[in-house]
Amino acid sequence: MEKELLEAVAETVSGLTKRWDRRYYLEKSAAHEAPTELYAAMADAGLFALGVPEEHGGAGGGVTAVAAVMEAMSRVGMPPMIYSLTSFSRQAIIRFGTPEQIETHVKATLTAERTFSFALTEPEAGTNSFAISTTATRRDDGSYVLKGQKVFISGADQADHMIVVARTTPSDRVENKSDGLSLFVIDAKSPGLSMSPLNIEWHAPERQFTVYFDDVIIPPEGLIGEEGKGAACLFESLNTERVVISAWTLGLGQFALAKAVEYAKVRAPWGAPIGQYHSVSHPLAKAKAQLEAARLMTYQAAAQIDQGLPAGDLSNMAKLLASEAADAAVDAALQTHGGSAFDADTDIVTIWPMVRILRIAPLNNEMILNYIAERVLGLPRSY
Ligand SMILES: Cc1cc2nc3c(=O)[nH]c(=O)nc-3n(C[C@H](O)[C@H](O)[C@H](O)COP(=O)(O)OP(=O)(O)OC[C@H]3O[C@@H](n4cnc5c(N)ncnc54)[C@H](O)[C@@H]3O)c2cc1C
Repeated sequence: MEKELLEAVAETVSGLTKRWDRRYYLEKSAAHEAPTELYAAMADAGLFALGVPEEHGGAGGGVTAVAAVMEAMSRVGMPPMIYSLTSFSRQAIIRFGTPEQIETHVKATLTAERTFSFALTEPEAGTNSFAISTTATRRDDGSYVLKGQKVFISGADQADHMIVVARTTPSDRVENKSDGLSLFVIDAKSPGLSMSPLNIEWHAPERQFTVYFDDVIIPPEGLIGEEGKGAACLFESLNTERVVISAWTLGLGQFALAKAVEYAKVRAPWGAPIGQYHSVSHPLAKAKAQLEAARLMTYQAAAQIDQGLPAGDLSNMAKLLASEAADAAVDAALQTHGGSAFDADTDIVTIWPMVRILRIAPLNNEMILNYIAERVLGLPRSY
C-alpha cells in the first residue's frame, strides 16, 4: 500500500512540476511572490486533500502521503512550504478541534482555499517555547485578547490563517511550565495584527516575518482544544511536522546529489570524469547511503503516526538524520562542482541555506539530541 501511494504521488508531482518547475520556483522566490499557480495545480491534482481523513472529506493517506508530496516536490527543488505548514497545522484542528472548526478550517484547506502559517517562536524565548510571553486573555464573553510578538513566521503574508501559541495563564501561576499554553486559529487579516519582513537569506517564495499582535480579538471558536492544554496539542502536531520536514530535507538532498552525479560524469579537467576519483565519488556514495537510511526512518515514523502509535522517538531521530544527510549531500555536491558551485546559475549554492536552516528549524538538532538523550536513553535533562 505504502509503495503504491508513494509511486502515485511521485507520478502526480512529476506531471505538475513539468509545467511549474524549479525555474518558476526561483522566479517566485526572487519576487517574494506566492507560487499561486503551483498551489492551484497541486490542489487540482488532489494533493492538498491528502493527509486529511476521508470522514472529513479528504483523500486519506495520512502523514505518509503528505511526506511523499513534500519529498517528491523537494526532489525537483520545489519544496511547497505553505503546503507543509498547512498540512501539519490542520492536524491540530483535526485531532483537537470541534466538528465546527473542522468544517470551517480543514475542509477549506482541501482545495487550498485556506492555508496556514504557524506562529510559535518569539524573540526572547527562542528554542524555549515554554518561555513565550504572548498572552491571550479571556474576556467575559469568551473571546480572547491577543497581545505579543512572534518572530521568523514563515509565509505569514501568504497564508490567510495563522495558528498561534499563546499563554492563557502566566508562567508564574502554573505548577508545570508546559501548562497555561493555548493554541488558537486566527484570521491573518484580523485588526491589530501587523507584520514586517525579515531579511532571511534563502531561496524560497516564502519570507519570514516578525508578527505583532496588538490587542487582536479572537472569538471563542478560535481556541483549539482545551484552554491551557495547548502544549499537548502542540506536541501531537510537532511529530507530524518533524516527519514532513524530514521528507522536505531528504528531497533537497536528493536534488543536490543528482546534480552532483551528473556533473561528476562530465566534468573532466584531467581528461577523465572527476566522478572516477574516490575523493569525489565516496562522499556522494556516502550521502546516498545516509539519505536512504534517513528515508527509511522517516517513512517508518510516518507509518507509526498513521497507525496511532507513539512516534516521538522515531520522528525526532528521522529529522536529525535526514537534515544531517541532506546537509552532507549538499556539501558533497558543492565540493564536486568546484568553483562553479558558487555560481547561482549552477543552482547548488542556492539550495544550501535552506538545507542548513533545516538543521536549526523548526527545532534545532541539539534539542533533538537532548530529546534522544533524555527520553530514549534515560539520561538526565541538560537544560
Ligand atoms: C527560515 C526560518 C523559518 C522559520 N519559520 C518559522 C515558523 O514558520 N514559525 C515559527 O514559529 N518559527 C519559525 N522559525 C524559527 C525557528 O523554529 C527557530 O529559529 C528555532 O527554533 C531556533 O530558535 P532560535 O533561532 O531563537 O535559537 P536559540 O533558541 O537562540 O538557539 C540558538 C542555538 O543554541 C543552541 N541551543 C539552544 N537551546 C539549546 C539547548 N537547550 N541545548 C543545546 N543547545 C541549545 C542551538 O544550537 C541553537 O541553534 C523559523 C526560522 C527560520 C530561520
